[in-house]
Amino acid sequence: MKKNLFQGVAILPIAFALAITTGCATTEQSQPQVQTATTAESAVVSTPVAEKKVKKNLPTVAILATGGTIAGTGAEGKSTNYKPGQLNVEALAQAAKLQDVAKVHGEQICNINSDDITSEIWLQIANRINKLAKDPAISGFVITHGTDTLDETAYFLNLALKTDKPVVVTGSMRPATAISADGPLNLHQSVALASNPAAKGKGVMAVISDRIYGARDVRKISTFNVNAFSSGDYGSMGYVIDDNVLFYSQPVKKHTVNTEFNVSNLKTLPKVAVLYFNVDTDGSVIDYYAQKGYKGIVIAGAGSGEYSVSWKEAIARHPEMIVVRSTRVGTGYVAASDDYDIANVLRCDDLQPQKAAVLLRLALTKTSKKAEIQKIFDKY
Ligand code: ASP
Repeated sequence: MKKNLFQGVAILPIAFALAITTGCATTEQSQPQVQTATTAESAVVSTPVAEKKVKKNLPTVAILATGGTIAGTGAEGKSTNYKPGQLNVEALAQAAKLQDVAKVHGEQICNINSDDITSEIWLQIANRINKLAKDPAISGFVITHGTDTLDETAYFLNLALKTDKPVVVTGSMRPATAISADGPLNLHQSVALASNPAAKGKGVMAVISDRIYGARDVRKISTFNVNAFSSGDYGSMGYVIDDNVLFYSQPVKKHTVNTEFNVSNLKTLPKVAVLYFNVDTDGSVIDYYAQKGYKGIVIAGAGSGEYSVSWKEAIARHPEMIVVRSTRVGTGYVAASDDYDIANVLRCDDLQPQKAAVLLRLALTKTSKKAEIQKIFDKY
């Protein structure tokens, strides 16, 4: 066995991981069944690799791995200054001890810091899940992801996926080599949720530290704490404790099969930037993005989505760009205003600025009319 990568969990040598990827029999009895695919057309369902110990009739969950701290490694025991995106999907699944929870089909989409996620990767994940979801053998999906931008990916998928099968995004705050790494339990709970029929039809969810969050409202609220996520004023949807799933609320906004967005033919998304307003800054930053060809901007404004005269003048110079007013405050909605809702400016409702940017990018694939886009913001 190789040196521990997860605290207290031995990672199998490469040779064994390869045996798993091909579904070959092995003498190891205690590991989960993992079949990996590296191409979009690979076979999906694995053959049991540990017949005696793996429960029969387990559901199959597809894990799509993208990197992040959950796949990160660094100095033994330390929780900072590590490298994200070092471990592959087999290593993650093995550490999560899934043998009594689900059969696993693993795919490595990428292995990066989530600050490097792009709209092309979003589209790749969405189209892959939309395709795999047609396979009746797959019960649900888990995406492993860095926590920095997990909320944006979750909301994009919540709007773009066309399945009511459970889809769960998870990550971790501590790398695999830290003391009490949180990744294995978060992944274990996520697979339990993704394989639970009660999770069907609830849109994309995030699981972190025993809690289930809805994709629309989840956001990161701590730079280091393992309990790093929240849904602002709205609370979590429920808990996962070991393999037990407990729901207490569900999303009321439209998602997945009930949205108007279809990304199947898209190669990229229109560019949208979030601009953070602060006192005495020059609105010409808006000119910069207009010159760069951005189709829209979201302003994280002060209070109820407000900003200075200088920013208003800059917006007026670019009637071709859609401007969405959001707020840097953290909670609350942006109220209608005769002073601000002029020309090409509309409101985000209560979406976080980065979520408003996700929705605006998708809205711009449908229309560039302000009134239509405002209706989209009122709906999602
Ligand atoms: N920078 C990391 C990432 O988002 C942080 C994390 O995963 O917690 O990929």
